[in-house]
Amino acid sequence: MDERVIEVRGLRRSYGDLEALKGIDLHVDRGEVFAMLGPNGAGKTTTAEILEGYRSRTAGDVRVLGFDPAAGERELRRRVGIVLQSTGVDPFLTVLETVQMYAGYYDRPRDADEVIDLVGLAEKRNARVRRLSGGQQRRLDVAIALAGDPEMLFLDEPTTGFDPSARRNAWQIVKDLAALGKTVFLTTHFMDEAQYLADRVAVIARGEIVAEGPPGTLAGREQMQARIHFRMPDEAAPPEALAATRLEDGRWEVRADDPTGPLHELTGWALETGIGLDGLEVLLPTLEDVYLDLTGAQVGAE
Ligand code: ATP
Repeated sequence: MDERVIEVRGLRRSYGDLEALKGIDLHVDRGEVFAMLGPNGAGKTTTAEILEGYRSRTAGDVRVLGFDPAAGERELRRRVGIVLQSTGVDPFLTVLETVQMYAGYYDRPRDADEVIDLVGLAEKRNARVRRLSGGQQRRLDVAIALAGDPEMLFLDEPTTGFDPSARRNAWQIVKDLAALGKTVFLTTHFMDEAQYLADRVAVIARGEIVAEGPPGTLAGREQMQARIHFRMPDEAAPPEALAATRLEDGRWEVRADDPTGPLHELTGWALETGIGLDGLEVLLPTLEDVYLDLTGAQVGAE
C-alpha cells in the first residue's frame, strides 16, 4: 500500500495583503519523486519551506513523515534531508571533512565516502571547499543533505544557474536517489526537469495548484489531439473524410487522437492525385503546451 510521506490540506500563507498560497492540497507517497513546477513567484519556495519547517503557515494541515514540521521535532529533522539554495560551509575544510562533520550530527549516518561517491565528488574528496567550482559546491550541498541517510529529500530549484552538463549530472544524482528508494520533493521552473525526473508533477501558478498528475498525462495531455498541418495549392481541397479545416495562415489542419490513419489517408490521396503537401508536419501535444495553457492563462489575471 502507498505510504503517505507528505500530506498537505488547505495550505494557506499570506504575506501582509498578498495571498502567496491560496489553499493547496497535495500528497507525496514513499519512494516518489514529486515536482512542484511553476513560474517565478508562484509559491514554490514558500510551500517547500513550510514543509521543511523553515516558514510558518497561515492555515491548513501539513504532515511530513507524520509530523507537523512547524513543531520542529528533532526526529523529523533527523529523517529529512534539505538542500538549501546555498549552505554556509567552512571553505577551509575538505569535502570529506565537511561530510563527516555533518554525518556527526546524526545517530545513524551514511558512510561519508559512499555519500561523496554518490554525488560524484570522489576525485575532490580531499580538496578544500573553497577550491570547488560552483557546480561541485552544489553537489556538496546534496552530499550534506544525504549525510544523515534521510528517508526523504527536499531539493529547491536544484539546477537553477547550472550549465547543461552540470544539469545532467544533477539529474543523474536525483535518479540515483530515487533508485535508492528515497522520496524526493523538488521545486523547479523547468518543464524538461519535471518531465525527466518526476513521477508526479503539480503545476502551481499564483498560489494555486492548477494541475496535478504524472507528466505524461498532466491535465489530460494524453487526450489532447495531435494536429497534422500542411499546405496545398489554392485550387485543391483535401478529401472530405478528413474533416480538415483551413487555418488563418492558409495551412490546412486535421486533428486526431491518433494521427496514423488520417496521415495514411492524406498521403495516399496526395500520391494518387499528384497534389503536393507542402510543409507536412505532425504536432504532438507537449508538456509545454499544457503548462503554457495552465500558467499562461493566469498571467495578467490580476
Ligand atoms: P521563484 O521561482 O522566483 O523562487 P517561487 O515560486 O518560489 O518563486 P515564492 O518565493 O514562494 O515563489 O513567492 C511567492 C509569492 O510570495 C511571491 O509573490 C513573493 O514575492 C511573495 N513572497 C515570498 N516571500 C515573501 C516574504 N518573505 N515577504 C513578502 N512576500 C514574500
